Amino acid sequence: MIGAGLLEALRERGIRTVSHQPLAPLSTIRIGGVAELAVFPASGEEAAFTLDRFRATGTPFRVVGNGSNLLFGDGILEGALLVTRDMSRMEWSGDRLYADCGVSLSGLSASAAKEGYSGLEFARGIPGSLGGAVVMNAGAYGGAMSDIVTESIAYDLRTGETVTLTDHGFGYRQSVYLSHSELVCLGVVIRLKKGIREEIEAVMREYTRSRKEKQPLEYPSAGSYFKRPEGYFAGKLIEDCGLKGYRIGNAAVSEKHAGFLINLGGATAEDVLRLEEYVRNRVRDRFGVELEREVQVML
Ligand SMILES: Cc1cc2nc3c(=O)[nH]c(=O)nc-3n(C[C@H](O)[C@H](O)[C@H](O)COP(=O)(O)OP(=O)(O)OC[C@H]3O[C@@H](n4cnc5c(N)ncnc54)[C@H](O)[C@@H]3O)c2cc1C
Repeated sequence: MIGAGLLEALRERGIRTVSHQPLAPLSTIRIGGVAELAVFPASGEEAAFTLDRFRATGTPFRVVGNGSNLLFGDGILEGALLVTRDMSRMEWSGDRLYADCGVSLSGLSASAAKEGYSGLEFARGIPGSLGGAVVMNAGAYGGAMSDIVTESIAYDLRTGETVTLTDHGFGYRQSVYLSHSELVCLGVVIRLKKGIREEIEAVMREYTRSRKEKQPLEYPSAGSYFKRPEGYFAGKLIEDCGLKGYRIGNAAVSEKHAGFLINLGGATAEDVLRLEEYVRNRVRDRFGVELEREVQVML
């Protein structure tokens, strides 16, 4: 599955590659088999070079940011995995901020607060990369990436070119990147508003406290497993089916927040997928509501 000459080209360019990369450490739910090849570009240029090489050698690939909304399968992930977490350039220019897709969203919101910029308060505590957050249109506490993103730099696999996107087709946990898998996000421009550092930090502290209180942060998870169904809350529906604490293998519905499926230790992707199906069936039977998975599955 890895195209001829790919590894040599990447190594010659000085791009870090790991063969047989274990996947569990690349996902917050700590589950997964092994990737045939993982590539860790350290900049947008290295990422574009890598994607050019994937294209030229016909190597199939997937992209992973911080792996916080992701479930890998238990077996071998064939082809290459482009891991963005080493892409960390960040540039402020007034209220405009450019950052590579691999920059941590939570870290970014902390530095925005430090600079006295408001707009990223909602993102403090969302454990994703900036690229992953744009792809998923991550949001919380009434804010979302769609409120602050003005542009993103994308590699378009159809043409092999790097383009600037201004229309992201944002919706609830939706973006053009999810509907067009041939686009890879390399970097993002966001616009913030000048604010008062102490006030911004106070809001962030409150959100962090609220997350600790409500979310099972003491267990590995991929966040809220299901999307919010129109007019309902997934966690409440699951709780009302009496499923808090329900367990299959080493995966369980969190006791603290029933919207989270957690890894009790040593869970497999199969445990999680079986639990997902069980929960989905119970909610459908009881309430006639179809739960849709928010977590992205990479088998
Ligand atoms: C404890 C916890 C709390 C959470 N709370 C929230 C919350 O409040 N709100 C919320 O919205 N989410 C939340 N999440 C989910 C998750 O943090 C977000 O969806 C986050 O934005 C995902 O970013 P990531 O870098 O981890 O993406 P990943 O999980 O690595 O990837 C997600 C998807 O995006 C794709 N992708 C990633 N990077 C790129 C790129 N550069 N180009 C193209 N495709 C890419 C992947 O292929 C995959 O399909 C939470 C998760 C956890 C574990």
